[in-house]
Amino acid sequence: VRPQHLACSLDDSHRYDAERPATTCPLDEAPLLVRYARMDLSRTALAARAPSMWRYREALPLDDDEEPVTLGEGGTPLLRAGRLEQQLQLEVPLFVKDESRNPTASFKSRGMSAAVTRAKKFGARELVAPSAGNAGGALAAYGARAGIAVTVFLPRDTPPILIEECRTYGARVVLVDGLIDDAGKRAAAHARETGAFNVATLREPYRIEGKKTMAYELVEALGGVPGAIIYPTGGGTGLIGMWKAFDELEGAGWIGAERPQLICVQASGCAPIVRAFEAGALAATRWENASTAAWGLRVPAAIGDRLMLRAIRDSRGTALAVDDEMMSREMAALRTSEGIDAGEEGGAALAALRVLAAGGARFAGPVVLFNTGSALKYGPRARPAA
Ligand SMILES: [Zn+2]
Repeated sequence: VRPQHLACSLDDSHRYDAERPATTCPLDEAPLLVRYARMDLSRTALAARAPSMWRYREALPLDDDEEPVTLGEGGTPLLRAGRLEQQLQLEVPLFVKDESRNPTASFKSRGMSAAVTRAKKFGARELVAPSAGNAGGALAAYGARAGIAVTVFLPRDTPPILIEECRTYGARVVLVDGLIDDAGKRAAAHARETGAFNVATLREPYRIEGKKTMAYELVEALGGVPGAIIYPTGGGTGLIGMWKAFDELEGAGWIGAERPQLICVQASGCAPIVRAFEAGALAATRWENASTAAWGLRVPAAIGDRLMLRAIRDSRGTALAVDDEMMSREMAALRTSEGIDAGEEGGAALAALRVLAAGGARFAGPVVLFNTGSALKYGPRARPAA
């Protein structure tokens, strides 16, 4: 449906036209959120639709006669993990939302499908983004799908398989000394110099719209909200997007005021949101010397920090860090106990749940772990010590 307007995430009175290309709020540089006038989304209308995220088109920025740039993203399985559920002695069902089953094998495809659909509508001739890895591959694929040139800025030490993925979809890859925020500065400069459209996380309002469909799928599958969502968190678009989605779903009459606890998981080698959460801070500061084997979690500074912290607190959730050894062990557990193609980030989510369960945490309803991408995306790992 056509959005009503874009609203600043810091001050709702800062409102902008949604029918023009947009970046952040010109007054304070905060991310912009898409607002819709009225969401007419009935469950019965969904029954006949294909299981992609665009089945929720009444809740997505798409004109009635417009076709999205799609590769069949979304509609990923919500897998019951009964063996782990027993092992952890949970009193509620445990599910894994397996986002490795998306095009380009990660949850990044959802956001890029929405962002590239909008950029194409607005006539973008080139798209640019920084990436810790998976977002670059997704942008490269959706750019190719839309027929729009793509440039990706990646940290120089990104796993070679991710660099190759971008290149083989025809994207131009620029390797940058530093981390994703350094790559982000280069991408922003490239956008200013060339007029390329910057689709960096939360620098434009539409990747959130794609990511939020994860919450629509959870509510459709479970018939209500889960008790807790355990989410490996880098840039945080998914966390912010899902939190927005629950409000929309309440507005559409699908759920009431109940909300899941949002549990943010980061790597102990890069945990700016956890540190800020524990300090009671409203915003996060940059994490120096960030290092973790979970490439998707190596995000030392995120523009969505305030939004993430607000959502975690409003949900009565929490934030915790797990180390690389724990995530590697739990990634293996998801694979051997449940047959799920979990990467390090999915392992991090399970590691966090194990910490919480051991600490006696109780959940009000089903627990959903997010496996955000396939293990195959990072290429061969060093053999673990026997
Ligand atoms: Zn503003």
